[in-house]
Amino acid sequence: MSILIVDDSKTTRLIIESYLTESGYSDLLFSESALDAFEKLDINSAGETSVDAGSEIDLVLLDIVLPDMDGREACRIIKSVERLQDIPVIMVTSLTESEHLEKAFEAGAIDYITKPINKIELLARSRSALKLKHEMDSRKMREQKLLEVTRQLEVAVQKLNLLSSLDGLTGIANRRRFDEYMDAEWRRGRRHFKPLSLIMADIDFFKAYNDTYGHQAGDECLMTVANTIQSTLRRPEDLLCRYGGEEFTVVLPGTQKNGAVFLAETICSAVEKRAILHSGSKASDHVTVSLGVATILPTKELSTADLISAADGALYSAKCQGRNRVMVASVNFNN
Ligand code: GH3
Ligand code: MG
Ligand code: MG
Repeated sequence: MSILIVDDSKTTRLIIESYLTESGYSDLLFSESALDAFEKLDINSAGETSVDAGSEIDLVLLDIVLPDMDGREACRIIKSVERLQDIPVIMVTSLTESEHLEKAFEAGAIDYITKPINKIELLARSRSALKLKHEMDSRKMREQKLLEVTRQLEVAVQKLNLLSSLDGLTGIANRRRFDEYMDAEWRRGRRHFKPLSLIMADIDFFKAYNDTYGHQAGDECLMTVANTIQSTLRRPEDLLCRYGGEEFTVVLPGTQKNGAVFLAETICSAVEKRAILHSGSKASDHVTVSLGVATILPTKELSTADLISAADGALYSAKCQGRNRVMVASVNFNN
């Protein structure tokens, strides 16, 4: 533990030094003036400190009468620096000066010793001040550790939240995220009078694909289709989700019907162009999707369920009419 002794009297410095070293305190620093003490504490006389300053001092013994400054004022300046606030300051005074100590206590000194220095008094006061400093340091360290653990926990929770909203196979948003996103975008659409469009896409004859190529190939096909659809999306707010087994949805906030239909057509041809062989399909030689599109202006009379069932109805029509195509919902909600 490091102790800074600030006293202009050489005799006092020597006495304090000998008492402290006799008792095993070896890390002692000495200043003859307040300004020199400030330098050792890495501050200037205005109490300003450099950003990377790191004072290692654990206790200051401060003479009340110094050549360049009143010791009580020096104490106030030290205590005004946040970094130094935990360093205990013990005032060293003559008996006659001790009645003037009030200002030093107001400034943050925790104790005083009187001159002539009494060894027992010096050691007892120094020991308890150092003990206090040690406890404060440990408490600060515990607080810092706690802060670090809390931060790590927050990062883990964020990761967990992200994982719980992703589909394990394809890595795109899962049904849970779809529900949340639809609700949020529904409310936003209502607030800003913006339309909300939804595309529902379903792989054609996928059961036959599994039967022909096996379940694992089926999984790979699902990943490829998800990537292909994702690559057609351009706006960050467009969200692709895995709605169910081989069914995908694309939520398109602020998108009118024409834009949504155009995107659905793009998805339809992009999947076919991937040319994944599908000998069991009656719609094409390759894997294809059928798509249903619906657009709605969110209002309080309607709900996300209306939009989903409209897109689902359109998807059903696309299936009925031969698959590998886009159909638009016939319901017109807002008229
Ligand atoms: P349709 O053209 O009418 O959509 O016919 P379909 O065969 O695609 O539809 P159906 O609903 O009869 O079959 C869907 C198949 O998708 C059945 C199921 O085993 C398969 N499937 C669902 N989830 C997964 C999955 O995660 N991996 C694999 N490999 N197959 C899946
Ligand atoms: Mg299907
Ligand atoms: Mg299906």
